[in-house]
Amino acid sequence: MKKYDVLIIGGGPAGSACARRLRQGGARCLILDQHPFPRQKPCAGWITPEVITDLDFTPAEYPHGLTTFSSLRISLGCFPLILPGRQHAIRRYEFDHWLLERSGARFEVHRVKEITATKDGYILDGKYFGDYLVGAGGTHSPLYRTLFKADHPRQEGARIVAMEEEFPYPWEDGRCRLWFFENGLPGYAWYVPKADGYLNVGVGGTVEKLAAKGENIKTHWQYLIEKLEKLNLVQGHVYQPFSHVYYLNRNLPEVRRGNAFLVGDAAGLATLDMGEGIGPAIKSGTLAAEAILNKGDYRLDSIPKYSFLPSFLTAP
Ligand SMILES: Cc1cc2nc3c(=O)[nH]c(=O)nc-3n(C[C@H](O)[C@H](O)[C@H](O)COP(=O)(O)OP(=O)(O)OC[C@H]3O[C@@H](n4cnc5c(N)ncnc54)[C@H](O)[C@@H]3O)c2cc1C
Repeated sequence: MKKYDVLIIGGGPAGSACARRLRQGGARCLILDQHPFPRQKPCAGWITPEVITDLDFTPAEYPHGLTTFSSLRISLGCFPLILPGRQHAIRRYEFDHWLLERSGARFEVHRVKEITATKDGYILDGKYFGDYLVGAGGTHSPLYRTLFKADHPRQEGARIVAMEEEFPYPWEDGRCRLWFFENGLPGYAWYVPKADGYLNVGVGGTVEKLAAKGENIKTHWQYLIEKLEKLNLVQGHVYQPFSHVYYLNRNLPEVRRGNAFLVGDAAGLATLDMGEGIGPAIKSGTLAAEAILNKGDYRLDSIPKYSFLPSFLTAP
C-alpha cells in the first residue's frame, strides 16, 4: 500500500491550494483525480483580485491567457449599470492544470470509490493510505458521501444549476456582461470574453426556485443564446453546452470529522450573491492545510459569503 501524510481527493483549485500549502510545510501528499489534467471544468472562470492575492502570484506571472476587466456591465432586470473595479477571467482548462503543477504534489489519475477510516488514518480503495484525508472532490465528493452526508444532507434551497459553454470565437465586444433576473431567472446569465479568442457564455439559477416556477435551466439557456444572437454578440455558433450543480454556502455544520476535511465545493461554499466558488475553494484548501500542519482547528466561518463586498472594488 502507498503511504502518505495526506491524501487529497480532487485536483481542482481546492485540492491544489491545499497541496501547495502542505508541501510548503514539508508534508508528503498525494492528489488523486479521476481525470488526467488538463481537464475540462464547466465554469465561467471569473476570478477576483483576492484570488490572485491568495494564490500569491501577479497577473504578469500567469503563464496562460488572463483577461482583465476594468468594470462589469450589469443589467438588473431593465436597469443597466456599470460596476467599476478590476476583475479577471481565466480558462479553467489552463488554470487548474497550472495550479496542480505549481503545487508540486504527486498526482495520480484514480477515481476514488471506497473510503475506509481506520484508527490510524484512511484507506482509499485498499490501495492508498494517509494519516489525513482531504475531500476536494467537488459537488459529488466521495468523502462527503461517505462520512458527512447521512448526518448533514445538502439543503435543497442551496443548490444551483448552471449551463455554459466555452468555445473559440472571434468576439468583438470585449466587455464582461451579466444579466440578472431576466425572463424571471432566479440567478444570472453571463457573457465573458477571454484571452486568445475564447468566449464563455452561460446561465445559472437556484434549482428550487426554478422548479417552483415549473421551469428548468434549459429554458433560460435558450433565451440567452437567442439574446446573444439579437445583440449581435454571438452569431452562427452551434452550441454544445454543459450543465453542472453546486451548492451555496449555508454553513455546513460539520466540515471535519477526525482527520478528514471537506474543502471547496465538497463543503458547499459558493457565495450567496454570485455563486463564486473558486475563491472559497482556495481559501478552504489553504485553511485545511494549515490545520493539518499546525494540528489546529479547522473552521470556515472566515470565508466570505458574498462576492459584492467593498473589497470587490479594490484592485491588488
Ligand atoms: C457553469 C459554472 C460556472 C461557474 N463560474 C464560476 C466563476 O466564474 N467563478 C467562480 O469563482 N466560480 C464559478 N463556479 C463555481 C466553481 O467552478 C467551483 O466552485 C469550483 O470549481 C470549486 O472548486 P473545487 O476544487 O472545490 O472543485 P472542482 O473544481 O469541481 O474539482 C473537483 C475535482 O475532483 C475530482 N473528483 C470528483 N470525484 C472524484 C473521485 N471520486 N475520485 C477522484 N477525483 C474526483 C474531479 O474530477 C475534479 O477535478 C461555476 C460553476 C459552474 C458549474
